[in-house]
Amino acid sequence: MNQAQSIPIHRSNDNSIGHRGKAGAFGTTFGDHMFSQDFDGDQGWSEAGIHPLNGIRLHPAASVLHYGQEIFEGLKAYRRADGEVCLFRAIENCRRFNRSAARMAMPEVDENFHLQALCELVALDKDWVPSEPGSSLYLRPAMIATSPRLGLAASTQYKHFIISSPVAAYFGDGHSPLSVLVSDHHRRAVKGGVGEAKTGGNYAASLQVSEAASRNGFDQVLWLDAIEGKYIEEVGAMNICFVYDNEKIVTPALSGSILEGITRDSILKLAPHLGLYIEESRLAITEVLDDIDSGRITEVFGCGTAAVVSPVGTLTYKGEAHTVNNNMPGRVTRLIHREITNIQYGEVDDPYGWIT
Ligand code: PMP
Repeated sequence: MNQAQSIPIHRSNDNSIGHRGKAGAFGTTFGDHMFSQDFDGDQGWSEAGIHPLNGIRLHPAASVLHYGQEIFEGLKAYRRADGEVCLFRAIENCRRFNRSAARMAMPEVDENFHLQALCELVALDKDWVPSEPGSSLYLRPAMIATSPRLGLAASTQYKHFIISSPVAAYFGDGHSPLSVLVSDHHRRAVKGGVGEAKTGGNYAASLQVSEAASRNGFDQVLWLDAIEGKYIEEVGAMNICFVYDNEKIVTPALSGSILEGITRDSILKLAPHLGLYIEESRLAITEVLDDIDSGRITEVFGCGTAAVVSPVGTLTYKGEAHTVNNNMPGRVTRLIHREITNIQYGEVDDPYGWIT
């Protein structure tokens, strides 16, 4: 698919907004503009453009509202010390977007055009990229099924759009390690299902459990595999890593129900250059908890675009809390955080070609 074209830009006339580049609570403040394009059956994609952020008009029978045919992505634009703004592994996000689209019977978008749309949107709303340490402009591409039809079938019409939202640093010195509840009963995703697609239903299905966990004082839920209820999959909307003996990072192997995280992949690529061993394997929850209790596991952290890495302080399973590293962020967690953010914020060279 080749969609090379220039993207028409309709600028916002609203200069009254005085808070550009200031982050609110995650995802509650939005950049001035959005990108969108529409898909219609055999005609493919059209109407691409960047225009002032506005509402989307949908027929009440639009498929997305009834059958949840939708996908999304999440990536960030970072402001560097020299004022330049860059994206981290953005083409990987575009590729994952298309993998999700294929799984949800949706049309693919041209990856390079998607990347061009991201770059042009960020260039136009550059003032929205905050400059406080660790802050960024979160970018949210999405695609929704818009055909007005109540019969259950893949839609023939779609809207692809990208919006942005300035966000503050997530991992700070004042941020204490996560208290995590291992979900013993509910499951996030099943092998053969849609767990490895970034589609809304996966997240909707997790809400009842995460809300209940939050009411009981937990920050995140750790999900086990849906078949045996035995193997570790993910923590909240993050992949998970266990550090053995201060030197080996072990993360669950992709199972079909785990989202293939770009941060996870970056860690697997970076860690060997930092003198760390890596391993992808099936991790049984009971063995992991034994290894935490015996001190073989020296650190646990979640990883994802939002926080880069988030240290885990306790894992509670069947009513019993297991504390990791005295509930403190460990050396490897800090090292990984520093290495990735240094590349994102241009503090060091980019040996992997990850920056756009
Ligand atoms: N798992 C899930 C379920 C997620 O939603 C995310 C966030 N995209 C991740 C893992 C981490 O992925 P990434 O590192 O690409 O942000």
